Amino acid sequence: MVIFKTVADIQAYIAKQKAEKKKIGFVPTMGALHKGHISLVEKAKQDGAFVVASIFINPTQFNDKEDFDKYPVTTGQDILMLTEAGCDVLLLPSVAEMYPEGSANMQSYNFGYLETMLEGAHRPGHFKGVGQIVARLLDIVKPDAMYMGQKDYQQCMVVTNLLSQLYREQAPEMVICPTTREQDGLAMSSRNRRLTEPQRALAGRLYQCLVSIQAKQSDKFSIVQKECNDLLMEKGFDPDYIALADANNLTLLEEYEPNRKMVALIAAKLGNVRLIDNMIINPDSN
Ligand code: AMP
Repeated sequence: MVIFKTVADIQAYIAKQKAEKKKIGFVPTMGALHKGHISLVEKAKQDGAFVVASIFINPTQFNDKEDFDKYPVTTGQDILMLTEAGCDVLLLPSVAEMYPEGSANMQSYNFGYLETMLEGAHRPGHFKGVGQIVARLLDIVKPDAMYMGQKDYQQCMVVTNLLSQLYREQAPEMVICPTTREQDGLAMSSRNRRLTEPQRALAGRLYQCLVSIQAKQSDKFSIVQKECNDLLMEKGFDPDYIALADANNLTLLEEYEPNRKMVALIAAKLGNVRLIDNMIINPDSN
């Protein structure tokens, strides 16, 4: 795996690969890699892509300074994992490389409803930061396909929207990969490392809530939602939201709709670690 720290160097290298007609598959990350991240690299490899990953803890998408300061950094281990997975190139830039003119002077994108609800409501400015950094990375890497995780469902929708704003034609394909989970169902996340042992033992409850939301479609959603909320509170979680939405546009739904493709989304703090997860309901509907 070739590692680049500067934009000029990686651009020159990627241009050579493109000249050789290689398809560039891009996996943007913030590091502290786990099997979920590696599954994205593996999917890109399976698709026959020349795989470029990036590790950049983007300061502009953190609304919570403590979350930013405590974000785990495990670069040596990350490099080993990416190499083992067959990743071809890693971009490991500094803040100055990514925001040479300062982040305040960069173009900002509007995502309307998508950036003001759920994660957007609880993390003001978060999706503006995501839009800014993904646009910058796309400009550098110029991928044929982006590989992102369903775990961050709303982020996938924001980035899909960004692609439609940035490209009139030949937009990179957006490949959304399934959530990789621990044995107890907990979605893998870099933030899981910050859980204490007792918190980690409880954290699978989030997934169990999603399973019960999916299983209890003959009940009223408001009742299932309250059951989940009560259970999480009892176990020491501080839920931000437990929501049901249309899977295609994230319109919030008050009740289950039998023939609609829906998504249940959940966010809760356990101590000072904020966890998110989601599950598609009726995946075969529209
Ligand atoms: P992050 O490093 O948290 O910004 O995540 C980088 C990419 O990995 C994003 O597209 C995430 O959605 C994806 N990702 C994070 N956790 C998982 C997981 N458990 N399974 C699959 N993809 C994931």
